[in-house]
Amino acid sequence: MSTLDHYAVFGQPINHSKSPRIHTLFAEQTQQLLTYNAQEVSAESFDLSIDTFFNQGGKGLNCTVPLKELAWQRADTLSERAQFSKAVNTIVLQKDGTLLGDNTDGLGLVVDLTKNHGISLLKSRILILGAGGASRGIIGPLMEQSPKHIVIANRTKEKAMTLSNEFAQLGDITGCGYDDIKDCQFDLILNATSASLTGQLPPLADTLLAEKGYCYDLAYGNEPTAFVKWGLAHNAKKSMDGLGMLVEQAAEAFYIWRGVRPETEQIINLLNSERAL
Ligand code: NDP
Repeated sequence: MSTLDHYAVFGQPINHSKSPRIHTLFAEQTQQLLTYNAQEVSAESFDLSIDTFFNQGGKGLNCTVPLKELAWQRADTLSERAQFSKAVNTIVLQKDGTLLGDNTDGLGLVVDLTKNHGISLLKSRILILGAGGASRGIIGPLMEQSPKHIVIANRTKEKAMTLSNEFAQLGDITGCGYDDIKDCQFDLILNATSASLTGQLPPLADTLLAEKGYCYDLAYGNEPTAFVKWGLAHNAKKSMDGLGMLVEQAAEAFYIWRGVRPETEQIINLLNSERAL
């Protein structure tokens, strides 16, 4: 018998977050008694908000922009994947009252690519656009799929190089600027820049995507993003956005909190049917 436990997502802005809907659907599906809401929390008010939340009996939290690095600093202990990614999107209240920080973003992406879309990453040439928090969270789980290599390209080249150095022990990974990849080809291009949020695109050469290659934008919206459109215009076998990743990272957080794994396919189908793709 479950008790009515309380969970939330903190972030700013937060009013468009789909997380409360996703977790409520998970709870209904798995017959777990819980509440989950979204709270507008700025970086400045993060510490106070987290204290208040757990003092009032909260059991677990998701953190999104701009709080993932602060959550990483705040957690008492970290999972191995969170330690590496230097960002936390899931906080769990432990039995002894301490806070465990985890990062489910990378796993969410890999599950969406490999299970939901049936894409094998083995020996593939992967390009990640962007070198921010999202890129940091996905590199480790992508490397576990044994790709041929990963290239990180970023507007600020130095950030891509620093990031690739941090992950160099995991496999073949290079950081560079957009100019450096104009003669290269990739089987999978992941857009982990925030450019889509403003309808923009990084400067991408027309020959960048290999024949039968895939495009995946971590961002999502009711309409196809600029990068999803770029993939379609460049003959991608599939050009996807990050809604599936969002649901899968949430499912992993739900599993960590509740010990029950929700079925994601029907939730992804439902959310897809509610938008005009
Ligand atoms: P950050 O702010 O940490 O990083 C943003 C990155 O985008 C930087 O590398 C930045 O480059 C680059 N960038 C921004 N604008 C442009 C532009 N106009 N042209 C080229 N590069 C640009 O953001 P996050 O890493 O946290 O998030 C990135 C994206 O991933 C967002 O769209 C977010 O919504 C999405 N996301 C989706 C998730 C999901 O579950 N589907 C989970 C997590 C993130 P520079 O370093 O030069 O400034």
